[in-house]
Amino acid sequence: MEWVKGVSSINWDTIQKLSDLDQKVADLHRQGRCAEAVEIAQQALNLASRTFGPDHRYTQTAQKNLLLLHKVKTGQSPGGQALKKKTRKKNNFRVSALIKLLPVILCLSIISTLGLITGMVDKSETAAAVPAELPREEKNLPYYIVQADFYPQSRVIEGKEEVTFEHFDPGEEVVFNLYLNNYNDRSLQSSEMRKYARARGREPGYINVQNVYYQGKQIPYEQTGKILKVKLNELLFSPGEQTLTIDFKAKMPFGADRVGGNEKGMWLGNWLPTISVDGKESVSTDVGDPFVNFSSTYEVSFSVPYDYNLVISNTNLAEDKHGKRKTYRGQLEQVRDLPVFLNRDYNLKTIQSGKTAINYYYDNDGKPTEVLAAANEALEYFRKNVGEYPWKQLNVVQNDMYLSGMEYSTLILISNQAIKNNLKKTLFHEIGHQWFYNIIGSDQYNAPYMDEGLIEFIGMKALTDKTPQSWSHLTGLNKSLEEFDSWEQYRTIHYRQGQKWFECLYSLMGQERFDRFIQDYYKNFKYDYVTPGEFEAFLINYINNRSTQELLSYLEN
Ligand SMILES: [Zn+2]
Repeated sequence: MEWVKGVSSINWDTIQKLSDLDQKVADLHRQGRCAEAVEIAQQALNLASRTFGPDHRYTQTAQKNLLLLHKVKTGQSPGGQALKKKTRKKNNFRVSALIKLLPVILCLSIISTLGLITGMVDKSETAAAVPAELPREEKNLPYYIVQADFYPQSRVIEGKEEVTFEHFDPGEEVVFNLYLNNYNDRSLQSSEMRKYARARGREPGYINVQNVYYQGKQIPYEQTGKILKVKLNELLFSPGEQTLTIDFKAKMPFGADRVGGNEKGMWLGNWLPTISVDGKESVSTDVGDPFVNFSSTYEVSFSVPYDYNLVISNTNLAEDKHGKRKTYRGQLEQVRDLPVFLNRDYNLKTIQSGKTAINYYYDNDGKPTEVLAAANEALEYFRKNVGEYPWKQLNVVQNDMYLSGMEYSTLILISNQAIKNNLKKTLFHEIGHQWFYNIIGSDQYNAPYMDEGLIEFIGMKALTDKTPQSWSHLTGLNKSLEEFDSWEQYRTIHYRQGQKWFECLYSLMGQERFDRFIQDYYKNFKYDYVTPGEFEAFLINYINNRSTQELLSYLEN
């Protein structure tokens, strides 16, 4: 392929040898000759480690293969603790099916893991057939019960959150993200950000944790910056499901930001304490979307003054104390966050799109007919080409923020500027994030191309008559958010170069295989969080030759 560069630097002889060894392992395993299979797998590991070093993905794959064989030999399941008996009904997905499938999983895991290396060299035409839905390790997802009261004069939300989650080691702290502290004053570094976000004045926002309770007892906690750490009391601890209750006070920022507001409305995303995906503090960045959570269920009771309207998907007015306060209640399932839109004087227009109601909240010049038509078109496109949209609502909110659009779970923001100049593309992009961000979560900090680049590529195919190309010049995409000084730099890499990377992948695969790959990606990783490594490992089940390996090298250090 035209864009392939530096092929000669790759050690193809060794890759071929590894491939042969793995084929042998697979054959021996199939014949039930486990001890011999382990021996050969060990040889493969030694060879990979000697040639590529311990951190290379070939070595890691060889290691995984060996580990898997050892586990099979000793009768241990590779699912490990994920196969523990579940007690919580809510969020309990596919578990019984998984237990029934255990023998199949053992076999599939080995075949698919070995597949990472076998067939490495130019066998694209015979890429392994992948079952439509591979069983994956299951975990009960966090469940939040939120009670909140909004006070508009001070822009404060006082709230209580009860969160139920799995935790097995009392020595390990439970880590929560406090993303709202991105909007305190310190976090706004660059002049670009200041200029836009403060164009019409800005006041900071923040969240402070006030109490944490475990098993009815108040326990110590540590809040620093954008993180909350809680150590569960060992005397009360038993491994498995845990429940913590957190009292908090949140102040909503005021300004033209993606969490912000004006006289008429306030839009909030990622404002609650949420369990960290990787146990680390998210880094403050001026560009990109450094927010991602586990897919979770939220049960909500939220009160506002009588002259405010509250928009949270699946939540309805439940109580109206006339002239005083109103309370909304509902439950939103399997989402990454609980976005909220509070408003007083917005217009609303709704259309039905399949099982989903698209609600558009707009101000003056909101172009409701055009916006709803474009939103419907985008929703239909992703439903047809990727997979189902599982929620009953999609809320679209017009506002005056400095970004053109912003994605939250089941709620997207679109700016006045975008409505004026770039309505169709912006809506398509933000609605695409319902699939790539909300349904399939990915590493927003290290690998934004996984959602931004992919959505840009799909948008190019859907909205323009350009043909995807095999670009001869690509830039490495292995750049985390920290490395960018401006939105323009970030967009150049993860949106534009990301799009080109997917164009190359599409050119290698051809339309039919690419479509199957994307649809299977959806089925396999629905409501999951996917790391770049998992993405690559999944991809090479569909195409795996020298060109693919070269293309993948643009994703790595
Ligand atoms: Zn985006």
